[in-house]
Amino acid sequence: MSQTNIRELVIVGGGTAGWMTAAAIAKVMGPQVNITLVESDDIGIVGVGEATIPPIKLFNDLVRIDEDDFLAKTQGTFKLGIQFVDWYKKGETYSHDFGPIGKDLGYIPFHNYWLNEHRKGSKHSLWDYGVNNLAMRQNKFDRLAMIPNSPLPGIVHAFHFDASLYAKYLRSIGEKLGVKRVEGMVLGATLNSENGFIDHINMKNGEKIAGDFFVDCSGFRGLLIGDALQTKFEDFSNWLPVNRALAVPCEKTTPLTPFTRSTAHKAGWQWRIPLQHRTGNGNVYCADFMSDDEAHDHLLQNLDGKPLADPRLIKFTTGRRADFWVKNCISIGLSGGFLEPLESTAIHLIQSSINQLISFFPQKGENHAAKAEYNHLLKSEFDYIRDFIVLHYHANERHGEKFWDEMRAKPIPDTLAHKIELFREAGAISTNHEDIFKLSSWVQVMLGQGIMPAANHPFVNTIAPKDLENYMNDLRTIMGAAVENMPSHEAFIARLCRARPE
Ligand SMILES: Cc1cc2nc3c(=O)[nH]c(=O)nc-3n(C[C@H](O)[C@H](O)[C@H](O)COP(=O)(O)OP(=O)(O)OC[C@H]3O[C@@H](n4cnc5c(N)ncnc54)[C@H](O)[C@@H]3O)c2cc1C
Repeated sequence: MSQTNIRELVIVGGGTAGWMTAAAIAKVMGPQVNITLVESDDIGIVGVGEATIPPIKLFNDLVRIDEDDFLAKTQGTFKLGIQFVDWYKKGETYSHDFGPIGKDLGYIPFHNYWLNEHRKGSKHSLWDYGVNNLAMRQNKFDRLAMIPNSPLPGIVHAFHFDASLYAKYLRSIGEKLGVKRVEGMVLGATLNSENGFIDHINMKNGEKIAGDFFVDCSGFRGLLIGDALQTKFEDFSNWLPVNRALAVPCEKTTPLTPFTRSTAHKAGWQWRIPLQHRTGNGNVYCADFMSDDEAHDHLLQNLDGKPLADPRLIKFTTGRRADFWVKNCISIGLSGGFLEPLESTAIHLIQSSINQLISFFPQKGENHAAKAEYNHLLKSEFDYIRDFIVLHYHANERHGEKFWDEMRAKPIPDTLAHKIELFREAGAISTNHEDIFKLSSWVQVMLGQGIMPAANHPFVNTIAPKDLENYMNDLRTIMGAAVENMPSHEAFIARLCRARPE
């Protein structure tokens, strides 16, 4: 057996991707690996990316982040889901909430029972059986793993936070764990002439930083994976043509909502992310259907507080690298690809990349099998998220609006077409290990976007109608009572994680 451990790991970039990677690898590998992180204060970070999904708690556990301390230091709030306004059609709102909805009976997913009830004319929506949704409606929050004295799951949460404070917070963790930070501008990388591996990076001040393995966290530019290693970028614009964002913070308003809001408009959508000290907003749009000036005006006209800065324009192309791991370099974060922030998945993809990097930690030299596995897993995960986002656009009933008519008519990935057909037939969802979005997420967005199954699972009909009615009533009563007892989101934060002045 030959063991040739990596000793020198160089990370280029100190945004969310760079510092998450640095902190996690330092925590797991300890002094076995020397980590150098290079970042440029002149370039700075992208400074957006403020909404997350629940698996981020696993990252926090890995690097031993105390949730209350983290929220206090990043002006953070809790997130229970995303409210989608005007997506299916104007005037209609639905929600994609974290955690399960209802409670399955036996092997049959809960939504089948709801479909049965709905067909019989029940006035209750699917979301009446979601404890997260009931809490969202009342702007409440509590840490509740299970609903007391019941077998019902409780609240499943993620976070909103200030992106620039998050990068600082992660940096303090990384540096405590021994990560060496170098400030300066990277001009490029020099490759080994024999095997094409990165030998060192070249700094503007003439310094060369050598390493055994490199992580490209340099943002959209992709200094190593793109510029140095010339890895192809697979463009997803054909499916997801939205390509610009204008971001602006505004004054906070009350009540403090425990969810992200996404409101569709004529050529894209606008996000609203509530933080303790301000609200983050952004207009995400397709430049072919909305000019920058129009997008600017639309954004400012749809804030619920006074703007605190001028809107900042960010241009992007949706897609990903043909491979994320090439030679002795892995790209993590925006350098590896970008899917628009509709489902807050970019930070999760960073986390996933880090998990897989830890699982398939490279040795010096070629790592053929590990590299193939890593690329397969990450590409699959990326592509499942792509499909999930395309679903929101494709299944719309915003007839007569050019952008939305086009989105409805565009061909969609075969994988998504199959999923929709399966659901339409009898409410079934195919789930895959690499897909971060599980059954409950797909069901909520399918139904929310107006895709109604023609039938439900026949097992439902084996339950006596009265028994089923009682079961559904009990669920609503127990969940409703649990939410009644919760504090408001604002009060919960004031008690446990109020931001403190530095
Ligand atoms: C409009 C928008 C909204 C988003 N919203 C969300 C969201 O709600 N949720 C979510 O999960 N994600 C979101 N994201 C994605 C999220 O912002 C990013 O995934 C995350 O911030 C990671 O960025 P990064 O670290 O890859 O890049 P960056 O933050 O751009 O960091 C790049 C780093 O590389 C350094 N660098 C670059 N070039 C050089 C050089 N030549 N020399 C030295 N250093 C260099 C920079 O200084 C910086 O430190 C959003 C993205 C956009 C564009």
